[in-house]
Amino acid sequence: MMDQMPARVIAKCMEMGMMVTINARLDFETIQVLADEFGYDAQLMEEYEEEVLGVDDSQAEDLEPRHPVVTVMGHVDHGKTSLLDWIRKTHVVSGESGGITQHIGAYEVTTSVGKVTFLDTPGHEAFSAMRARGSQVTDVIVLVVAADSMVMPQTVESIELAKREKVPLVVAITKMDLPTANPDKIRAQLAERGVEVEQWGGNVSCIEVSARTGEGMQQLLETLALEAEVLELKASKSAHARGAVVESKLDAGKGSMATILVQNGTLHIGDPFVCGVYAGRVRAMFDDRGKQMKSAGPSAPCQVLGFDGTPQAGDELTVVEDEKTAREIASKRRMAARERDLRARKSISLESTYEGVKNGTISELNLIIKADVGGSSEAIAASLEKLSNSEVKVNIIRKGVGAITDSDILLASTSQAVIIAFHLMPSFSIREMAQKEGVQIKNYRIIYEIIDDIKNTVEGLLKPTT
Ligand code: GDP
Repeated sequence: MMDQMPARVIAKCMEMGMMVTINARLDFETIQVLADEFGYDAQLMEEYEEEVLGVDDSQAEDLEPRHPVVTVMGHVDHGKTSLLDWIRKTHVVSGESGGITQHIGAYEVTTSVGKVTFLDTPGHEAFSAMRARGSQVTDVIVLVVAADSMVMPQTVESIELAKREKVPLVVAITKMDLPTANPDKIRAQLAERGVEVEQWGGNVSCIEVSARTGEGMQQLLETLALEAEVLELKASKSAHARGAVVESKLDAGKGSMATILVQNGTLHIGDPFVCGVYAGRVRAMFDDRGKQMKSAGPSAPCQVLGFDGTPQAGDELTVVEDEKTAREIASKRRMAARERDLRARKSISLESTYEGVKNGTISELNLIIKADVGGSSEAIAASLEKLSNSEVKVNIIRKGVGAITDSDILLASTSQAVIIAFHLMPSFSIREMAQKEGVQIKNYRIIYEIIDDIKNTVEGLLKPTT
């Protein structure tokens, strides 16, 4: 777009200290600097979003109220599973009881004041995965606290998470059937954590329940259904569907399947879609009783068949025009993901190892030693191996005499090693290959400097070199 000869762009990169080839992919920061050099301004755009997929929910004209999606959180053993099970068990629609309950990671219940969707994905992992991918799937968090216990570490974590993510809380004080239940104590402890419940003049609903007797459950459900109005949750039913993967698995018989929580629009049988790095077409949809569905609207969970690979929890599913478009977008995303992956995997250097040692994520340093004469490489290898300590092991994976070769670079790349060059001057083509493969070559002329650097690296003391 800058209308420049590739050679000039490459030359500019080299001026900036980057050995690149015409096929190299640059990261955005580099592109910005480079564009600036040529008098242009680079802007980062979302990958294949608006223009291809044509979604902008906020602008849609046919927004209608939708029901809330709820996640239950709280300390272990405080009664989350029991609460979810109770709600689920008591909401089997009569006449449909033939269907066998399937665990698909989410289910929907109908109360006297509206529907509520519950996410019952085990643990917080899926939730974190979804957050990490930027999809906000939960409208309300039900904070479960056992009435006979107290505010515990995971209770506090859940409160903090809700605050951080700006997701409203509804408190459920459960196990109220126990004689030792003391809900006032819980309310006091919650207040200390900044959760002001309505009984105490705050604005957080707090319902006393029991999964054993069912006490308070109806009230809890109604409170949740009403939250949708307070939060003014809205979505368009007519739009192309967009949703998030709640759970996924590879079934031996049926292939890849995923539970999708529709966030906007309506998902229909036959819809072509992209989902993360995969494409597909909705072959079949099932609800949480294994019953076939023809379509699923906003806030509805459904299990979908028809993926060409297994997506991950948190991936977004978006319906597109046709299967060809879906496959194209998916393949571009796959390429970009592979590229990112390679880049992340390959950049091994003494500096990154040092960082890894410091934060405890690295426990090995692989080295390739090349020297001008045989005696030196032996001596260096022997001294460096001795630097292993209880936290980091120094592995000499190859030692040799003479110039650094392609095979040294490839070995370094596959085994994530740093090359130590002693009294050698790597050729241009070798330096270029190392750059491409993300391999660091450290040049030295004095043995004790090598020892110092490696010692500092494994001890997590290295001063970053410029
Ligand atoms: P989770 O770890 O938060 O999912 O907690 P569970 O739902 O597995 O419950 C932990 C324990 O508390 C189990 O032994 C349940 O039987 C018990 N429990 C859960 N809810 C109630 C309740 O409302 N009343 C009583 N008495 N016990 C309960």
